[in-house]
Formats: sequence, structure tokens, C-alpha cells
Amino acid sequence: MLELSKIAFPEVKRLSDSGRALVILPVGVVEEHGAHLPLGLDSFAAEVYAASAAPHLENTGYEVVVAPTINYGVAGAAIDFPGTLSLEPETLRSMVVEIGRSLARHGLKRLVILNGHRDRYHMKALDDARAILVEDKSAQVFCVGFASDPTITAACYRDGVIQYYKSPRPEREGHGGESETSVALHSFPELVKKEVIGELEPNFDYDVAAFRDETKDYGSLSDGRGYFGWPQAATAETGKQLVETRGRNIARVILREWGDAKQEKPEPTE
Ligand SMILES: [Zn+2]
Repeated sequence: MLELSKIAFPEVKRLSDSGRALVILPVGVVEEHGAHLPLGLDSFAAEVYAASAAPHLENTGYEVVVAPTINYGVAGAAIDFPGTLSLEPETLRSMVVEIGRSLARHGLKRLVILNGHRDRYHMKALDDARAILVEDKSAQVFCVGFASDPTITAACYRDGVIQYYKSPRPEREGHGGESETSVALHSFPELVKKEVIGELEPNFDYDVAAFRDETKDYGSLSDGRGYFGWPQAATAETGKQLVETRGRNIARVILREWGDAKQEKPEPTE
């Protein structure tokens, strides 16, 4: 796995010539995740899942290049919490389109948008960007992670993970709860306020439909706590399993859409 911002331009030429490059663009947001987790969690998680998916894609012949993360997004539900920042959807859409066009100009024409933040306007902006890039034939583009298509979200993030939850109410675990706390404890433990977790009571009795359908803000839904579920159920070991499973899931979803790089026919020579 290569990071685009850490390589030099001749390497990009080589990647383009190889015809096997697959660019992953992680997308997150700056948004509250409870008093115990950092505001950038969704961006960090998208990067962690990209790194976890990459070896599975490389095993089938792709050369994975991870572009610098878009750390800002559309964040409506938690906007009243200190530190949550939000873009207009058009701003996010334009950023992704312009990044996609620039990549394509240099022959990097396979783009996976790996999104770590669930917000319907945010996800729609990413899907609109995908449609624009596909429409102008800039690139092949695919949205994974939290996606407008709920079957993609489930195939990436939910398949095969429930067995690792320790929460007594796994179906009530959501934003800032066991899953996100576990991933943080495994992947960026230095950013977790562990001394706070012990004070966090379970938040199981919230309006699940309003949470899922994003019809109420996180502050009123959680009595100002900002998390859903029970962060105390989280462990680093669970986080390890979630990262491995979701990385494998994401690679599988991409390969189902595009097939192996090895199966590609060589481009005709001019
Ligand atoms: Zn999150």
C-alpha cells in the first residue's frame, strides 16, 4: 500500500503505466463522538479500514494507493456539540469531483471512496460526486463504507461482526458506542480518554428510529451524552476483530464490483 502524499511523481507515472492502480480516498468528518473519543474518529477509522482492506486487494493484483483523507464532511446531527464542523454538501461533492478528475488526469482511473461517517446528506454528496465522475468518464468510481446504498453499508460494516460485540444490547450500539470505542482502543488508543469511559452509563433507551433515520439531533437523542450504546463494553481485542473483519468485507465488496486486477486483459498497444 502506498500513500499518495508520501511518494514522488515518477512513482505515479509507474502506477499509471501498470494499469493496476486502485486509489482509495478515505472520507471522514469532524464530529463529536462522546466525551471519551476524538472528534476526528470517522476520518481515522476510514484510514484504518483502508489499510486493513489493502492487502486483500493487493493479493488479487491491484496496487493500492491511499490518497490523503478528506477530514471534513457534512455533519448535521451533532452540529450543536462543541467542535463539530460541517460543510455544505456541494462543497464536499466538489472536493471529491475535483480530486477524482485530478487523479484521472494522471491515469489513476479507479477510485474507491471509503466513507467513515454516517449522515445522509454527506453520503449523498459522495454518491453525487461518484455519478458526476462516472458521467464525464473520468474514472471508475465506487462508494464503500457508509454509503447511500444501505446494502453496501451492511456488507462493509455489519457482515460477520455481531459475534464480537460484548454489549448486552448489541442492536442498540451506535455512534460513539462499543464498536467505535473498540476500534479506537485498538487503532489509536492514545486518543481515547480511558479515564472517562468508566463513568459512562449505558445509553440503550433512545429513539432508535429517529437515530437511524436521522430525524432528530444527537444532543436531544442522547440527553447531551453524544454516544449511543455502552462504551464500557468496548475492548481493544474487539476493535482488532472489527478492523480485520471490516477490512476483509470492504475488499470483498470492491472485488465483487470490479473483479481481480489479474483478470484484466492487457491494454492494446498503439
Ligand atoms: Zn462515527
